[in-house]
Amino acid sequence: LTILGIESSCDDTAAALVRGVPGTVHILSSVIYGQAELHADFGGVVPEIAARAHAERVDTCVKEALFQADLALSDVDAIAVTAGPGLIGGVLSGVMCAKGLAAGAGKPLVGVNHLAGHALTPRLTDEIAYPYLMLLVSGGHCQFLLTRGHGDFSRLGGTIDDAPGEAFDKTARLLGLPQPGGPAVQAEAAHGNPTRFRFPRPLLDRPGCDLSFSGLKTALLRARDAIVTDKGGLTRQDRADLCASFQAAVVDVLAEKTARALTLYLAENPASPVLAVAGGVAANSAIRARLETLSADHAIRFLAPPLALCTDNAAMIAYAGLERFAAGEQDDMTLAARPRWPLDANLPALLGSGKK
Ligand code: ATP
Ligand code: FE
Repeated sequence: LTILGIESSCDDTAAALVRGVPGTVHILSSVIYGQAELHADFGGVVPEIAARAHAERVDTCVKEALFQADLALSDVDAIAVTAGPGLIGGVLSGVMCAKGLAAGAGKPLVGVNHLAGHALTPRLTDEIAYPYLMLLVSGGHCQFLLTRGHGDFSRLGGTIDDAPGEAFDKTARLLGLPQPGGPAVQAEAAHGNPTRFRFPRPLLDRPGCDLSFSGLKTALLRARDAIVTDKGGLTRQDRADLCASFQAAVVDVLAEKTARALTLYLAENPASPVLAVAGGVAANSAIRARLETLSADHAIRFLAPPLALCTDNAAMIAYAGLERFAAGEQDDMTLAARPRWPLDANLPALLGSGKK
């Protein structure tokens, strides 16, 4: 199967072509038009600007992806598109483009949940069997997903407030670092002292796999203000120490909660157990390193996608579409763009602690 994927749910307009069957595919092309420079002056993604940019660029992006794969639209078996969750203006641009292409070329249309795209990334990059444990950590989400199939996710737990990506971005903003904050904070943390500030590790005292990141942000703000009041401003070292201490708290919390989620996952008796991470925050090297050690301690395989497949891309959307299409699922022209779309919407929560 050859699938065209289109992604436009946040601030990356992306198109990609993948070819293969579920569990064994390769990426023929993956084009991403980022919008960082459009939002740089605003300290975050401005939905209206994002929507306009997606609408202006999505067709060129698709054309470029087809060109790079040396294919024509007539060569694809189906058109997959992110139908949510995300900024609605952007999602609409992608869905309208996909509908137009599907109608024009007479191709099947497959709506994809953006989070499923992230969560299925381990099967795009490696031959991984279900079930696996997915830690999805991104700009807007943080959840442990027991992944049993392309549409079969049970949420074992997740954040009760902010997502880690949001926390990284806010930290960067508070310290005058550029957006997206994750890479900037990671770079500063590399030459900082992670033990100088003792930031909270929220919810570790409570059972279950739920997480919280909003208190961390407040603690960071207080620590910053205390230094500013005391010394009149932040030195480079202060900034690096704040970043390192913040990152250490995120890593500790994720590691402890992942260990708990692993216990629940291993109770499923998977034949070849796998812990996988995905989402933009999975690009963080400190998080990857800690989870790798944790997995080694549990004697299970650890998978983290290459950095370009952690943050938003259309290859993951094409792949999730491929799994749906191969299973006989597709959509028609009534496919709706959805701002909110929880992955486990139709599934019973496995545990009380996972419910929100
Ligand atoms: P969602 O997938 O939840 O809808 P999104 O699509 O906006 O949100 P992604 O593109 O998956 O999110 O991830 C973007 C986030 O990843 C940003 O918050 C960014 O700061 C964060 N991020 C990127 N690289 C790193 C890194 N090295 N360390 C920490 N965070 C990072
Ligand atoms: Fe994303």
